[in-house]
Amino acid sequence: MKLTALGVYGPFPVAGGGCSSYLVEDGDTHILLDCGSGALSRMLRYIPLSKLDAVVLSHMHADHAGEIDLVRYALEFGQGNTPMPVFSPETASLKREAFAPVLTEDGMTATVGSLQLRFFAVRHAAPTTGVRITDQRGHALFYTSDTAYFEGLIDMARNADLLLADACLADESNPKALRNHMTGAQVIALGKAANCKRTLLTHRFGANPVYPLPDGADGVFAEEGVTYEF
Ligand SMILES: [Zn+2]
Ligand SMILES: [Zn+2]
Repeated sequence: MKLTALGVYGPFPVAGGGCSSYLVEDGDTHILLDCGSGALSRMLRYIPLSKLDAVVLSHMHADHAGEIDLVRYALEFGQGNTPMPVFSPETASLKREAFAPVLTEDGMTATVGSLQLRFFAVRHAAPTTGVRITDQRGHALFYTSDTAYFEGLIDMARNADLLLADACLADESNPKALRNHMTGAQVIALGKAANCKRTLLTHRFGANPVYPLPDGADGVFAEEGVTYEF
């Protein structure tokens, strides 16, 4: 499986950057995981829309779903297969002809091409589902989406080959922010507790995108335009 980081910032991008969006590929299977600003134009660098099998929206905040209507416009102009499956924990705004909305709930599973998806409710200001994506060899990606830290994340991420996690916060100084996002130190600890092979920190805060990680931290910040194979 391959994950390409298209946009890694939130809740707003830096100059020239994009908001949460990732291309997940396994052979002929292609999933757009979140659809923040820049998602469509950047995805098109790798695949035409006609090769996209599904969109997974972790939640409907603009930095994760703000460009979904651009995907719809392109589909309506014949650029891809319709109806396009769009997974989301809120589907009211997705009920358009070009889309086949699928409501995601805790524990729900789905198959897209060669990939198995399992959704998990996480803790954020809006209904939000993280997703574990597994290929036929058993290799797994777990994406936390936006969430506060809670112990249940460890089982969701257990033994994943790649943990892609919300590390929006540099420290624990803002209690309100901690109810919606994790710190880099929390993400590093999660990767370790869950025995993940590789930990990628993402949701880089537009105003302070990189901050020092704890000494010896086993993880790196995801970089736009980089493909991670696992
Ligand atoms: Zn976000
Ligand atoms: Zn959010």
